[in-house]
Amino acid sequence: MTRTAIITGSTSGIGLGIAESFAAQGFNIMLNGFGDADEIEATRARIEEKSTGEIGYHGADMTRPDEIEDLVVQTEARFGSVDILVNNAGIQHVAPVEDFPINKWDAIIAINMSSAFHTIRAALPGMKKRKFGRIINIASAHGLVASPFKSAYVTAKHGVVGLTKTIALEAAQHGVTVNAVCPGYVLTPLVEGQIPDTAKARGITEEEVKRDVLLAAQPTKEFVTVEQLGALCVFLTTEAAASITGTALPVDGGWVAQ
Ligand code: NAD
Repeated sequence: MTRTAIITGSTSGIGLGIAESFAAQGFNIMLNGFGDADEIEATRARIEEKSTGEIGYHGADMTRPDEIEDLVVQTEARFGSVDILVNNAGIQHVAPVEDFPINKWDAIIAINMSSAFHTIRAALPGMKKRKFGRIINIASAHGLVASPFKSAYVTAKHGVVGLTKTIALEAAQHGVTVNAVCPGYVLTPLVEGQIPDTAKARGITEEEVKRDVLLAAQPTKEFVTVEQLGALCVFLTTEAAASITGTALPVDGGWVAQ
């Protein structure tokens, strides 16, 4: 039986990496996220070519509950089910709390946290009915520990970990597992975008930002890779992972062990 997965925010970075890993398993996938329409179509076609599954795309904006519901409804209509849901879409903004723009706070809470509530409430009934589901929330090391100047992000990611535990309990007897994956730093556009500004703000080079700022908290001194995260997500979809639920799994080179 071919499983179907929705991955929010899968036009870039970690979500795209998870899509590549799922495609290698032959899953049907509904991609989602922003970007240039031609580039998204090229990505969709490239992934589909390497997979036995079908790859679709839905442009739902994760700040819009009606569009999020439509993402789930359209995926079920096209593929017959949503078996795997990866809540991955996310944005970042870094500023002291007293300067934090209100619209950035609202957007981060909506995209990084509330969107997972909206996808889950739409997808869970079908999973329960079919007695199978895998919900994977891409939280962050910042779902477990804080850093200064990231109030909205840390709040949203801690919220995602709380949501993960709650829905894991609600779904536990229905064949549905719910887990949070908590990456440390991964070199994606979200992180690359912070490097030049941090270098300027601190008067250091971009290489020094990577080594002394980003990887300062990561004992391995290595970035986490999207392939490592994709492989973990694949494992979480298997029968072998059926008893893993309600967890927040750090993939952070030892960051939160400190
Ligand atoms: P990215 O910027 O490369 O990708 C983000 C994706 O989300 C893109 O596809 C983008 O189009 C999509 N997106 C943004 N706003 C959206 C919206 N309103 N509606 C729909 N899609 C939207 O970022 P990334 O680094 O791959 O981050 C992916 C997830 O991983 C995020 O939740 C992020 O918080 C988390 N994370 C990232 C890191 C890291 O170091 N990169 C570490 C821990 C957790």
